[in-house]
Parts: sequence; structure tokens; C-alpha cells
Amino acid sequence: MRAFDYIAPDSTESVVAALAAHSPNARLLGGGTDLIVDLKHTSNTPKVLVDVSQVEDFHGIEMTDRGLRIGSMVTHTEIMKSEIIQKELPAMVDAAHTVGAVQTRNLGTLGGNLVTCVPSMDSGPTLLALDALVTIAGPKGSRQITLEEFFVGPRKTCLEPDEVLVDIIIPKENVGKPTHFLKFGLRKGQALALVNAAASFHVGDGNIFSAPRIALGAVAPVVMRATKAEDFLAGKEITEANMAEAGEIAVTEIKPITDFRASKEYRRELVAVFTRRCLAGAYALHQSRA
Ligand SMILES: Cc1cc2nc3c(=O)[nH]c(=O)nc-3n(C[C@H](O)[C@H](O)[C@H](O)COP(=O)(O)OP(=O)(O)OC[C@H]3O[C@@H](n4cnc5c(N)ncnc54)[C@H](O)[C@@H]3O)c2cc1C
Repeated sequence: MRAFDYIAPDSTESVVAALAAHSPNARLLGGGTDLIVDLKHTSNTPKVLVDVSQVEDFHGIEMTDRGLRIGSMVTHTEIMKSEIIQKELPAMVDAAHTVGAVQTRNLGTLGGNLVTCVPSMDSGPTLLALDALVTIAGPKGSRQITLEEFFVGPRKTCLEPDEVLVDIIIPKENVGKPTHFLKFGLRKGQALALVNAAASFHVGDGNIFSAPRIALGAVAPVVMRATKAEDFLAGKEITEANMAEAGEIAVTEIKPITDFRASKEYRRELVAVFTRRCLAGAYALHQSRA
């Protein structure tokens, strides 16, 4: 690894100022579980690493007027230990639990996971299924966009080189929304997903799917929503047959590839099964709370 300068600002403003002064020769450092590994293998070493883990604004999990706010530097372990997330959004705990091993979860952050923007990231599907928003700070101030807009392509977000991810917001109406996450890897721990998936919906009057969401990872260039399957479900009765049909429709929306982990045909089969199981899991959660 080549030498670089290291700075650790303690406020959003000083991070933005550091980026303005050093971009495009600066990289942001969160927990470092991804970036430090990358730096060991690249000749394109940044001149400055801006460690954002000391910024207070980037920490904390709390309910606000807008919804559940999760700082970008919240670690996967903190998500697993959060009482409000355990109670309201256990699918997020399940997703965090599948990331790497204990050491990776202790250091790795939600923000870092989203910014890597790899299609197999484990926090993406659940957050997409909850219509999460992200707050971005930069020289022109701060802006808020949907997570869907944030993901642009493999390893590419809409962040400009002088911008930083501040927090993730789960809109108020979706805090408590029945949601279920599943991941399939080649072994139980320390494996990237062949496919991961999440589904959420509210149970409407007459036992119908209301605001259904289906999000899928590792089957397209970015974590994606299966909107045709969602449209099929909206307003329909909650039945096993409809869940299975949604799974079949989701398969028509994905663009899986064959790689050393799995063939695209196998990924298609997983999507059909996981969509159905995630919907069933979300419904089981709803019933357990009734
Ligand atoms: C052994 C191992 C196993 C792993 N297993 C999994 C797994 O099972 N599932 C999974 O999804 N991931 C896995 N990962 C990947 C990684 O651990 C996660 O993506 C982690 O959440 C990254 O967070 P971090 O804070 O360490 O990011 P960093 O490594 O610090 O940064 C990652 C990227 O995000 C940028 N960045 C960080 N914070 C911000 C911010 N606030 N604003 C803007 N940009 C920012 C950095 O510049 C860098 O480009 C694994 C990694 C390792 C090493």
C-alpha cells in the first residue's frame, strides 16, 4: 500500500471542506472493511483519506419527524443491537447479521455498505423495500433523494466526488411495516449473496396487499425493485398463490449473470422462491403482531 495523508474531521462542514480542498484526490473512510482491502490492491492510491467515523452527525439511530434516522456511520452490529430496529424492522437485523463475520460487522457501516454499491450488498434490498431516503451533504448544502436514485450502476452511486452520505431515513409510514429479508450464499457465514431479497407490504382492509415492495440483490447491475411483481400484488388478496405468482413475475424483471458463484438459471430459480418466501415471511410477521 502506498503512503497517503490521513485526516479525521469531526463535523459535516469540515468533511465537506476537506473534500473541497482535496477532491478528486481524496477518499472517504468509514469502517475501512472495503476501502482498506481495495487500497492494498490498487496503484491508484488517494493522496488523502478523510476518516468520517468521528463525525457526530453520522452516528445514532433515532425516530425523527421524518421517520427512523440511521447515521451513515452506524455499524452493522449497532443495527443488530438497536431496540427500535429489533422491534419495528427485524428484517434489518436479519440483513445486518448476514454481513461477513463479527469483526466485519463491528467495523463495517451501513453507509459504507451502500456506497460500495455492489449488486450483492446485504443492506440494500431491505432498505429499498422500505422506500428509504438518503441525505447527502456537499458544497451546495444538503439534499435528500431516494435510495433507488442513489444506486446508479455497479460500484457507482450518484455521489459527486465532493459529497458525503450523512444518513439514511426510513419514512415514518414504513417504520413497523412488515418486512422480511433472505440471503442465499454458498455457506452460512462469510459468503457474498448469490441472491438476496426483501419484501414488505401493509395488510389492507379485506386482507389485501397494500404498498407491496419487492427488492432483489445480485441479479442485476444494482439492487433493484421488481415493480411489475409489486403492481401485480397491489390490491390483491393475500394468498399463497398470489405470492407465488409474484415470484414468477419477478423472474421476468431481473438480469442475472452467470459467474463463478452461480449460473443465471439458478439465480432465476432462487428469485422465484425467495420472492415468495419473503412475502410469506412479511405476512407471518404481521400475523405474529396481531
Ligand atoms: C471479510 C469481509 C466480508 C464481507 N462480507 C460482506 C457481506 O457478507 N455482505 C456485504 O454486504 N458486505 C460484505 N463485506 C463488505 C463490507 O464489509 C461492507 O460493505 C461494509 O458495510 C462497508 O462499510 P465500511 O464502513 O467498512 O466502508 P469503507 O470500507 O470505509 O468504505 C467503503 C466505500 O464507501 C465510501 N464511504 C464510506 N463512508 C462514506 C460516507 N459516509 N459517505 C460517502 N462515502 C463513504 C468509501 O470511500 C468507500 O468507497 C465484507 C467485507 C469483508 C472484508
